[in-house]
Amino acid sequence: MAKITRCEDARKYDFIVVGSGNGACAFLRQYLACSSGGKILVLEEGDNFFETSEITHQRNWTQSYAEGNIFKLHTAQTSDEIPILSGRACTMGGGGSINYTMIFESSDWLTKNLGHDQAYWDARKEELARSFERKDPTTNLTAVARHVKKKLEELDFSVNKENNMEIGKHVNDHILLPFGIYLLPQTLQVTLKDQYVSLFATTEEFADDNSQGEPTICNFDFFSGELGVLLYLISHLFLAFWVPNWLKFWMIRKPGVFNCLKRVSRTLVRILNALDDILWSIVNPFKMGKHQWNLISAIVKFNIAREGYYEPQPVCLVNENKKTKLYQIVLRCFEDKSRKNDPDFRVAETAIAKQIPLMESLGEKPHPIFQFLIRLLTRMPYKVEQIPNYINHYSRYDLLTEQHLSGGCVFGKALDLGLRSPKDTGKVLGSQNIYVADLSASPLPRVSPQMTAYLIGHHVATQITK
Ligand SMILES: Cc1cc2nc3c(=O)[nH]c(=O)nc-3n(C[C@H](O)[C@H](O)[C@H](O)COP(=O)(O)OP(=O)(O)OC[C@H]3O[C@@H](n4cnc5c(N)ncnc54)[C@H](O)[C@@H]3O)c2cc1C
Repeated sequence: MAKITRCEDARKYDFIVVGSGNGACAFLRQYLACSSGGKILVLEEGDNFFETSEITHQRNWTQSYAEGNIFKLHTAQTSDEIPILSGRACTMGGGGSINYTMIFESSDWLTKNLGHDQAYWDARKEELARSFERKDPTTNLTAVARHVKKKLEELDFSVNKENNMEIGKHVNDHILLPFGIYLLPQTLQVTLKDQYVSLFATTEEFADDNSQGEPTICNFDFFSGELGVLLYLISHLFLAFWVPNWLKFWMIRKPGVFNCLKRVSRTLVRILNALDDILWSIVNPFKMGKHQWNLISAIVKFNIAREGYYEPQPVCLVNENKKTKLYQIVLRCFEDKSRKNDPDFRVAETAIAKQIPLMESLGEKPHPIFQFLIRLLTRMPYKVEQIPNYINHYSRYDLLTEQHLSGGCVFGKALDLGLRSPKDTGKVLGSQNIYVADLSASPLPRVSPQMTAYLIGHHVATQITK
């Protein structure tokens, strides 16, 4: 593909694709395979993922969060104007395309939200899965992953298989709550692959006492590794925990403030690490330089109960004498004044309370002094009675999403489902020739969304080339 930095005449192109993330990649692949050609221009504001890229390798996956120029913040807040750390990747290839949470939504869900019947979606998934040539991830597990698998099975979780349709049927997403930092057994060999353990688990939780209505699907992900590596991974997300809300207000609006705070966060991480090394060397002078804490940590993520929306920001950006209207995203999480009745609060509380024993079986609690320090910063619970205070604090000061924003321009509402005329699939209703083929076209999937994003790109290309 030829790369250009200036486009003299956009009219020379038959198709202009804006962005080259997950949705666009799958769209282009299928479009090029099924059409007789035409000239295509792809506009991408971010770096070329495939050339920049240590980040395409497992060990540097963490950089997709920590690297300055490939992660941008959304202007996201709650309806009470509490800032939320929520972002997206701006790289060719999309955000999370290197780790393990690659799960299709169920065909049933896709039929309800995007039209067509279940057999149609089964066939598209099969086509797309073939193009990935993915092996079964459960056959080649690291020692840490086997340890997590064993503990999960002891607690009656069933283990995920590739493209597990069952998981897709019961999942949801997106507020991100870390809920444990424990020490792994020293006998376990930890590899770089374990930064994001290749297993995830799901449970169903209800927001009311009667277990009525649709359950919320809670996804549990596990991270493990040496303290320094894990701290580096979250150095970016650390901002959710130590930056006060008034400063976050500016951080989510001004990229300069965000970049500056990111650097401060990385420096803090380095200082914390050095401090830990010095203290350890003082206590163990004969083992200097051999120090390694291997940690295991978990997050629970689940879909916010109420749908959010975009709204115009009060300030406009004046650029080259042109006024640009900016938008902010309102995510309606933890919205009820009475936290106890709030559906997000209830789901988080039950999900965490049930899995504290799992965390205790995966590793040991850190020394009480470290528990105190962890809790000072995050209120993260080590006992069930600490959970309400943690979620309360989190919902006011530490809000963080899984960076899985979707929707805003969804099929059947803003976009043509293409049921009458396939070539109109994904066309913005009321427009002549604007199409959407990425995650903005779908409500939030109940699972990690990138496979659904690929599927939407693949689906739109399949239909419009018919
Ligand atoms: C750090 C990180 C980790 C993630 N991990 C996972 C995971 O493990 N599993 C999972 O399922 N999901 C994960 N996700 C979410 C997943 O990456 C997204 O849901 C998915 O990429 C959405 O696909 P998309 O095509 O809709 O948008 P994107 O992949 O975000 O693509 C949008 C593209 O458009 C470009 N763009 C935007 N505006 C413009 C413009 N005006 N002009 C030109 N180009 C523009 C962007 O630079 C980007 O390349 C992760 C996200 C992030 C940020």
